Amino acid sequence: MAEGETDPNAAVAGKFDRLLHDLQPWPVLFRRSLEVLQVLPEDVQQDFLQDPRFRLTFEDYQPDRGWTLWLPTPGGPGEGTRCVVLRLRLNDCHPEFAAWVIAHELAHAFLRNGGWNEISDPEEAADALAKSWGFPRPSGSWRNWWKR
Ligand SMILES: [Zn+2]
Repeated sequence: MAEGETDPNAAVAGKFDRLLHDLQPWPVLFRRSLEVLQVLPEDVQQDFLQDPRFRLTFEDYQPDRGWTLWLPTPGGPGEGTRCVVLRLRLNDCHPEFAAWVIAHELAHAFLRNGGWNEISDPEEAADALAKSWGFPRPSGSWRNWWKR
């Protein structure tokens, strides 16, 4: 990768542009997701970047219209999508909590919703992997974390 001539922040943001495309209308959620992606190990970043079916997207709840879930175009027969669906609430909640949720969901995606090493439970595996990336599960009441 060429270094030095371009603004490093712009280069980093550009690296994840495709993955974060859907989140552009929500600058806070976009930035929070970018900040998590940036600190992931290189092999994890590459796993996401090299899978054209992988990206981050959002679910939007509107009381009048019900749920709208945006999904990528499915792959061929037998190919599942690897899409991390984030709640728009993560745009407004406590930043530390948002970062953990995003890291936890990315961990599920990296593990293909499976286990990690000796951990077979997918939820425990995602928590453990997210923690290894620097995003331990926040303690305390989730009700408080959802607040700003
Ligand atoms: Zn989970």
